[in-house]
Amino acid sequence: MKTRVTVWNEYRHERTNEKAKAIYPEGIHAVIARSLADSGYDTKGATLDEPQHGLDEQTLNNTDVLIWWGHMAHDEVDDRIVEKVHERVLQGMGLIVLHSGHYSKIFKKLMGTSCALKWREADEKERLWVVNPAHPIAAGIGEYIELEQEEMYGEHFDIPTPDELVFVSWFEGGEVFRSGCTYFRGQGKVFYFRPGHETYPTYHHADVMRVIANAVQWCGAAGGAKPNYGHIPVPMEAIVSR
Ligand code: ZN
Repeated sequence: MKTRVTVWNEYRHERTNEKAKAIYPEGIHAVIARSLADSGYDTKGATLDEPQHGLDEQTLNNTDVLIWWGHMAHDEVDDRIVEKVHERVLQGMGLIVLHSGHYSKIFKKLMGTSCALKWREADEKERLWVVNPAHPIAAGIGEYIELEQEEMYGEHFDIPTPDELVFVSWFEGGEVFRSGCTYFRGQGKVFYFRPGHETYPTYHHADVMRVIANAVQWCGAAGGAKPNYGHIPVPMEAIVSR
């Protein structure tokens, strides 16, 4: 069965900002979903202004990997939906958080920290260096990905130390940033990937989309062990009384 991906997008900038609208006329989610469909995934979009933000129970239960892009309306996301997404991640649904999703309710809840960072919009060059070349998320990428123009995000990024660090970004203005981070939460896998400001054509870049497709494969793979929790009154082996 194909991995089922739901691409969630706030979808506000692309309807109000002329520059974003020109780059993503049908929304960022449409571009990402189409690219992932071309890579062989079963994709659908979901947006903030749909009932239940497009994330009703059936959709979430039939999602192997959820991709999250949000920026200006994080506070409008219903806490009950955040709770359901959180529960699904702990049960094994993969989650890929993009760019300004660092401040989303779901990412902050999973991290437990402020997720604050420094930023600047100055049309500067970003170079994302692969710092974990054996990681499947970096498959097919060279030493680095270079983006001619991006928004800068700089350290310190207030996140827990990543379980795995895949990319570190350098920016023309001098800052660096942990831009590709993985986390294990419950049975689920989480990947944070930095690039993707709405006024740059970042999600039209082949290597950026290759990383996202690799990440879908990585965090959508069926989980490993199925642990049991709770009281186990009967031991597996007879306990010898001493
Ligand atoms: Zn941005």
